Amino acid sequence: MSVEQFITDEQLQTKLQVVLQTWPLYRQLNYTGGDQVKVVPQHLSLFCDNCNKDTFWETYIYPGQNNKEGFKEKEYKCRNCGNRTVTYYFYWNKQKNNTTLVFKVGQYPELEERVSDTLKTALSAEDLKVYKNALRMRNFNLGIAAVAYMRRVVENRMSDMLEVLHEAARVHNAPPEVLSRHEEMMKEKRFSVRVDYAGDLLSESLRPKGQPNPMAILHELASDGLHTKTDEECVDIFDACRQTFEFVFGKMRIETEEAKNFVKGMAELAEKRAKAQAKPAP
Ligand SMILES: [Zn+2]
Repeated sequence: MSVEQFITDEQLQTKLQVVLQTWPLYRQLNYTGGDQVKVVPQHLSLFCDNCNKDTFWETYIYPGQNNKEGFKEKEYKCRNCGNRTVTYYFYWNKQKNNTTLVFKVGQYPELEERVSDTLKTALSAEDLKVYKNALRMRNFNLGIAAVAYMRRVVENRMSDMLEVLHEAARVHNAPPEVLSRHEEMMKEKRFSVRVDYAGDLLSESLRPKGQPNPMAILHELASDGLHTKTDEECVDIFDACRQTFEFVFGKMRIETEEAKNFVKGMAELAEKRAKAQAKPAP
């Protein structure tokens, strides 16, 4: 297992949030440094099924509290509604070799397998089933299996993805030489070539500043290097692919559809006006 060396207190706080919020049970974080941090983060960001959105969740920390002494439990409550709680059971302690080990051994309610509503509408019933399998495998730290399921869904929905990206690129005035390759790419069979094209469509103006192209991660799904990766590494690949996938079929698709409807609405209005003008006066 790899050890994260000399992390700062601040980095550790952030990492612990991620471990509690999203990591599968039994996935181990092994680190050195961050020695001042002995309590779990006071706040987490989680989806609340009562508020139906991501909210802040809070735990009570009493003065002098120490969570870093073996097996512990900790409860968080949704700060927005005060109506939902989640309890984590975890191990956190210094080891004989002077590294520190932390991992969850339980949580209730269980890690969610929720698929966003926008993504649900973008998937066929069959793909949704496969996607949920992928999520389930991921939540049990079976990253290799999760990535295999994920690849199936991405391959099945790649054409839809290219359509959404092409539309977004068109709306954002992408270079004509990129847009004109679309028809050829819709017929293309090679997965990696299509992923490259998806990356070209997602111009810098369409993605967060200073970030690498999020489409690049999809290459990992088909890469030969995948065979040498561990379950943990595959969980990370899966999470990144999931983000990209949800971004395209969530935010981006909604935006392009709104843009499309707007353009359509304007065209209809113009047509109506033209007709009204063409009519002879009574
Ligand atoms: Zn709530």
